[in-house]
Amino acid sequence: MSDNKGKYIFISAIIIIVIFLLLNFFIIVPSFTNILIENVEKSADKVATHLSTMVISSDNSILSPEKISSFKMLEKAAEEFNLEKISIFNESGEIVYSTDQTDIGKSQNIKEIFHILAKGEKYSNLVNKKSETTESRKVQLDVVETYVPIFANGTFIGAFEIYLEVTNLKQRLDNAVLKSSLLPLLLMFIFLVSVIFFLRMDETIIQSTQINLAKRYSSPLFFFIITAVAIFLAEGGLMMLLSVWHPLSLILEGIFDASALVLLVTPVLYFSLVMPLTSHIVERKKNEDELRRAHDELEQRVELRTAELKEANTSLEKEIAQSLEYQEQIQLSDSVLENTIEGIMITDTDGIIQRVNSSFSLITSYSEQEVIGQNPKILKSGHHDRDFYNQMWDSIIQTGGWKGEIWNRRKNGEIFPEWLSITAIKNLSGETTHYVGVFHDISDIKRAEEQLSYQVFHDALTGLPNRLLFIDRLETAITHNKRHHQMLGLLFLDLDNFKNINDSLGHNMGDMYLQAVTEILKKTCRDEDTVSRLGGDEFTVVLPNVDIPEGAVRLARRILQAFSAPIYINNHKLIVSASIGISFYPENGDNAEELIKNADIAMYHAKDAGKNRFQLFNSEMNERVTRRMILENRLRDALENNEILVYYQPKVNLISGAIVGAEALVRWQQKDGSIISPSEFIPIAEDTGLIIPVGQFVFESACNQAKEWHDAGFPIKVAVNLSTRQFRDENLLEMIQSAIKKSGVFAKAIEIEITESLLMRHEEKAIQVLQQLRKEGITVAIDDFGTGYSSLSYLKKMPINSLKIDRAFIKDVPEDEDDIALVTMIISMAESLGLTTVAEGAETIEQYDFLRYLGCSEVQGYYFSPPVVPKTLTAFLKENKKVEFSFLT
Ligand code: C2E
Ligand code: MG
Ligand code: MG
Repeated sequence: MSDNKGKYIFISAIIIIVIFLLLNFFIIVPSFTNILIENVEKSADKVATHLSTMVISSDNSILSPEKISSFKMLEKAAEEFNLEKISIFNESGEIVYSTDQTDIGKSQNIKEIFHILAKGEKYSNLVNKKSETTESRKVQLDVVETYVPIFANGTFIGAFEIYLEVTNLKQRLDNAVLKSSLLPLLLMFIFLVSVIFFLRMDETIIQSTQINLAKRYSSPLFFFIITAVAIFLAEGGLMMLLSVWHPLSLILEGIFDASALVLLVTPVLYFSLVMPLTSHIVERKKNEDELRRAHDELEQRVELRTAELKEANTSLEKEIAQSLEYQEQIQLSDSVLENTIEGIMITDTDGIIQRVNSSFSLITSYSEQEVIGQNPKILKSGHHDRDFYNQMWDSIIQTGGWKGEIWNRRKNGEIFPEWLSITAIKNLSGETTHYVGVFHDISDIKRAEEQLSYQVFHDALTGLPNRLLFIDRLETAITHNKRHHQMLGLLFLDLDNFKNINDSLGHNMGDMYLQAVTEILKKTCRDEDTVSRLGGDEFTVVLPNVDIPEGAVRLARRILQAFSAPIYINNHKLIVSASIGISFYPENGDNAEELIKNADIAMYHAKDAGKNRFQLFNSEMNERVTRRMILENRLRDALENNEILVYYQPKVNLISGAIVGAEALVRWQQKDGSIISPSEFIPIAEDTGLIIPVGQFVFESACNQAKEWHDAGFPIKVAVNLSTRQFRDENLLEMIQSAIKKSGVFAKAIEIEITESLLMRHEEKAIQVLQQLRKEGITVAIDDFGTGYSSLSYLKKMPINSLKIDRAFIKDVPEDEDDIALVTMIISMAESLGLTTVAEGAETIEQYDFLRYLGCSEVQGYYFSPPVVPKTLTAFLKENKKVEFSFLT
């Protein structure tokens, strides 16, 4: 209930009380007093009526008191009627008689009252009078003073004044008045109590969360008790106040009244006010509760929703924060991507380029627009094979990445090395979504590395490989040659006079001297040879591929030759001299260390032997090579000195046994008469190129000799051997033609012998030359046949006339069945091709017989004759020397 409402109720209650009190005082109280007076008046009238006859005299006047004996009656009557006082007035208003003796004879101004009385009406008045009790105690008495007129024969003759004590009645009336006045107050009080109660209850109920509490407050019993307590307290309090001047009976009466009031008012109040109000309140409470519940529910829902919203908000905030973070990260990544010096390329899983950074463009010269959507293949250098890329992708698929050095191509076509790291980028479910390639151009690093490695591996002064690189190259060459069964030469070179130059001319000059020596060495050696400086005045040369020791020896000689010319440095004429030691793989060691050591030893031997020379490590080899060198040197002069001779070995026909031809075999007869076999000097002549003049000499000699024999009546065929080098010589044909022409011999009388291996090595060229020779009429024989494994089909296309079966197959005939089979096969094969067969090196008559038996055409061997001087052969011809076969077939 609102404060305003309470205020209105309170004001209304006051107004009602005031109205009620006004009504009480102005209407109820006077009317009750009147009733009281009227009743008392009636009693007084009765008394007066009773007494009036006694006081009227015969003359219709009031008896005088002395005369009136009957006044005693009056006293009696007064006592009987319990009158306080009775007085009699005469018509003039004088008190004729009174029970109060003091009043007799007094007159009162009661004209106005007498005026009323004269009309036959009575007049009463309630007065309060003090009276003295017998105990001389003054008491207050309420008295109704009634004037009753006395008429005699209709004439007003006087009046009774009767005092009737109504203290009790008055008291009761006062009580009634008080009660009637207090009742509204009480009611009001109850009302207020009720209101307060309701207010309180309302408040309690509203505050309380339990409807039961409201019901308890609004129960009739509770209300009854409360109300009763209130009424009794009020009534009790009231009566306590009143009891000061009222006897206890009144209190009991009050209690009774209160009980009655309680019994009456409480139900009425309860049913009229409390119950509806309570039910209203309860209803309201219910509604309110419902409302509250709904409200609470709503609030809960709102709270829940709010919480949800908050959560959503938080997660949204988080998301926003996250997305901001992502954004920041992306921005960060972007700026990292853009500012990184590494080139970055991002492709999708199909390898299509999605993004590149500016460093990418800087390194590759491709702009972003040019490469987006392209395949990284545009960068491919072609430097790596398919296996390289396969391995790279295998690694990316298996390990998620690859790192390594790769060569790529810039837009301008330039190939450059880069260090590339490829990483597969996977999403949350582990699927690869992109590949990121990060690379940097390592051209500079490579260059620096190369420079560094160059510095590490090269001598700063001469730029030549240093000891490290020399050993590395030597080891590599040894490994290679081991595999290919090739020989390798190592020259160890030490300058003879370097110390002197250094000491006398200073280090600067020494350095320049070394540089000059280096230049000479570089010029003298072939490209494939590795010239190194081991330090000081020590140099080495690795010859990775030498056929024979002489190759290395020749180089050593060339070097010494080149050094022999003086050099000029700062106007100083300087002579370079060196001692060279030579070792060979595999003869002098099968590893670098041993080869170097042995070459070094050889070098010291050279120094000991007088410097400015070379020395081979192995003495046997050294001797061989030395001899070879000597021969080589001498061979140059041998032709001029007529030391070159041509011997002839006859070829015998295996049917007739007679000489049908001869093979020209060169001989070198030295001044001391010793003969050097062609097997020894022909290779030297080949290597030095001397074979050309020697070969020409032999060919011309053979032609001349053939002509001589022909002229003498012996038409034998003379065969001449042609070596590989000769065969390759452009002037061969010309030389042959001119020799034949010059000698005047029939070309048909000349035969060329070439080895099977030569024929096979230079197939095309060989065929051409042979065809031309054949055109000239010269016949061709394949020398040393059987060692080259030529096939039948191969021989078929060769323009040849005969096969010379190698001595190796003849020497064990007729013992060796395999050889017999082979020789038989060669003979039958030659027959089928229309070729004649010549057996070489037959040394016994058995062999002659057997070869003859096998169907071989001719034979050439020691049994009949070794190579002999022309004279001897001429003698054979003249005496018609023949083979005497053991049996004839
Ligand atoms: P070749 O052409 O096969 O010559 C045959 C060789 O077998 C000759 O050796 C000869 O003396 C030898 N011989 C012949 N019959 C017998 C025998 O019954 N027993 C033994 N043990 N040997 C026998 P020679 O004269 O020492 O010639 C060797 C090689 O030198 C020749 O082999 C030939 O390839 C080459 N040659 C010789 N003279 C010349 C030439 O003027 N120019 C060229 N380019 N090479 C020549
Ligand atoms: Mg020969
Ligand atoms: Mg031969």
